Amino acid sequence: MNLLFNQADANRLSSGSQRARVMSEAWVEGNLYCVGCSAVRLQRLGANTKARDFICQECGEAFELKATKSKLANRIVGGAYAAMAERIAAQQAPNLLLLSYQPPQYAVRDLVVVPKHFLTLDSLYRRNPLGPQARRAGWVGCVILLDRIPASGHLYLVRDGLHEAPIKAREHWNRMLFLRKEAQDRSWLIAVLSCVERLPAEFTLAQAYAFEDELQRRFPKNTHVRPKIRQQLQRLRDSNQLAFLGGGRYRQLG
Ligand SMILES: [Zn+2]
Repeated sequence: MNLLFNQADANRLSSGSQRARVMSEAWVEGNLYCVGCSAVRLQRLGANTKARDFICQECGEAFELKATKSKLANRIVGGAYAAMAERIAAQQAPNLLLLSYQPPQYAVRDLVVVPKHFLTLDSLYRRNPLGPQARRAGWVGCVILLDRIPASGHLYLVRDGLHEAPIKAREHWNRMLFLRKEAQDRSWLIAVLSCVERLPAEFTLAQAYAFEDELQRRFPKNTHVRPKIRQQLQRLRDSNQLAFLGGGRYRQLG
């Protein structure tokens, strides 16, 4: 994988943002493999298909590119809130492809895939409607809160300018696919998963309960946080992510 954008791709453009968009899209098309299968390239979709920028011709996974010259942030500005919420509920959100590059050489610094099964309504923030002076007055946008997505939902293909072996990235992708089978809302499951990942490989129920306040702040309407935590631990066990060792002790698998 060549980690430099080809600046010739943007020769005829003068606007910085247009150049960056054209170069980053061309870079993905020319260099990036599919994490969902063994395909060596992704296909770029036309400029008019706003939301889904790339697709894998072999497995059908769609990826939406968000490129920035800054370091990757914890929040990503999305499109219309209602449309995104609907897509998340219908499990039709795109996988996010977060790319950070560094001018003037235009080298890829970080490239992260956030698989769509990690996106929940809990990680979607509803922005205030645009004011009456705005051209699209009343329009409501959204922000994706990446800090609500666990470490296992940030799949690094490039980190600090070094690329991960594709086989490792694909293993990581496959390991988390169990989330797609969870038909009911995954907000709680993903929130508890992100707590569990911060615990040692073997932990106790008391250690999981230590996140009670954090989870209560995240889900202020829920008054039964501890039963909810136990329920999610069971869901994780049923998906072979956790082993119950007895006596309120657990071990993380995978
Ligand atoms: Zn694929």
